[in-house]
Amino acid sequence: MEPGKVKIYTCGPTVYDFPHIGNLRAYIFSDTLRRMFEFNSYQVSHVINITDVGHLTSNADSGEDKMELASRKQHQSAWDIARFYTEIFKNNLIEMNIASPTVWSPATDHIQDQIDLIKKIEAAGCAYTTSDGVYFDTSKFDSYGYLARLDIDGMEPGSRVEFNGEKRNPTDFALWKFSIKQGDRQMEWQSPWGLGFPGWHIECSAMAMKYLGKTIDVHTGGIDHIPVHHTNEIAQSESVTGQKFVNYWLHVAFLTVESQKMSKSAGTFITLKEVIDRHYDPLAFRYMALTSHYRTGLNFTWEGLRGAQKALVSLREKVAQYQYEEVAPDGESLSEFRGRINNDLNTPQALAFLFEVVRSTLPDTVKRATMLEFDKVLGLKLDKIPAESEAPQDVVDLLVQRQQFRREKNWQESDRIRREIVAKGYDVEDTPEGSRVIKKGL
Ligand SMILES: [Zn+2]
Repeated sequence: MEPGKVKIYTCGPTVYDFPHIGNLRAYIFSDTLRRMFEFNSYQVSHVINITDVGHLTSNADSGEDKMELASRKQHQSAWDIARFYTEIFKNNLIEMNIASPTVWSPATDHIQDQIDLIKKIEAAGCAYTTSDGVYFDTSKFDSYGYLARLDIDGMEPGSRVEFNGEKRNPTDFALWKFSIKQGDRQMEWQSPWGLGFPGWHIECSAMAMKYLGKTIDVHTGGIDHIPVHHTNEIAQSESVTGQKFVNYWLHVAFLTVESQKMSKSAGTFITLKEVIDRHYDPLAFRYMALTSHYRTGLNFTWEGLRGAQKALVSLREKVAQYQYEEVAPDGESLSEFRGRINNDLNTPQALAFLFEVVRSTLPDTVKRATMLEFDKVLGLKLDKIPAESEAPQDVVDLLVQRQQFRREKNWQESDRIRREIVAKGYDVEDTPEGSRVIKKGL
């Protein structure tokens, strides 16, 4: 809307469990989107919310709050659960080289903003109160469901969601839920309607408009958000402002693991910790995510991750081998890359072009500068020096043996092993955090 500026809102995590790699794919996508805008010289304002209250186990405004449920299961207060998993989430983003948003907005820090918005929805005649909460009356908002192209008239009560008898329409949803009795919940607040907590959808409307204004340029989330969560965000915001809430909705498709839906019981619920524990560079997963377009499903396999890591290491080795000189990136290659990435964020095509630059006849110094310019969008840390995780197993084993001798202060044996490692073409670097091996000449 404003020249040179772009406002992005991204639906954030519900912080009751470890994020899985499917969640992380969504934030790799929003980060790459943000980097693409910055590459095109836009100034980006980016908000990601933290859902730390009000997300119920059922989409039908029933069931338990996920935070309270996790609190019971993990014997921690709901507040501690929120703090703990928020930290885990933010650390995962750092590992994935995902920039912090301009604003992190936890729902529990914005209760008053949510109450104020519900009051406005009520004043606009779009809310009513039942015995268990305040609901949005979707029949009062003419264009309800346009994002998802919902067939409202053809919808039987209970067809999309379990029908609550007091709801006027099957698609109505909770803005505020009442506590059954005081002290029943750990997270509850006073409101004009009674003690309780906000519904899940209201936080995103309230916080998006607070930080970014009545209309925002881009809103991102998963495709699963289209029929309910984003449809309801639109209703809440537009019923109050009378203007368009979002100009562009971008939704990222699902990730499957070995062609299966991710599930804890099937052992296909993979976290970043597992990726790291298996000695993969977290950015190998970022590379893998970039090999598929965000609107296409991504099928994760360990085999595929191995391939991604190999490709990433080979690119880093190239950058490390090319001589550094202060030269400008190749203009023609930059405009080709820009064309691909600006075409609805076509990361597979952009990555493919990176390899074309490697194979090109450009001078090495220019190749290096050009690749690192592309990396501003890709975020793969291509200038990272390939380290021990890429060394062959026999070299890694030697390094582990040497560390043991060093702990025992057996310098003679430790030196002997160092010579063995050097003979295999690697240098050993000792740092306060430990030792690592680096391929010689890099
Ligand atoms: Zn949201």
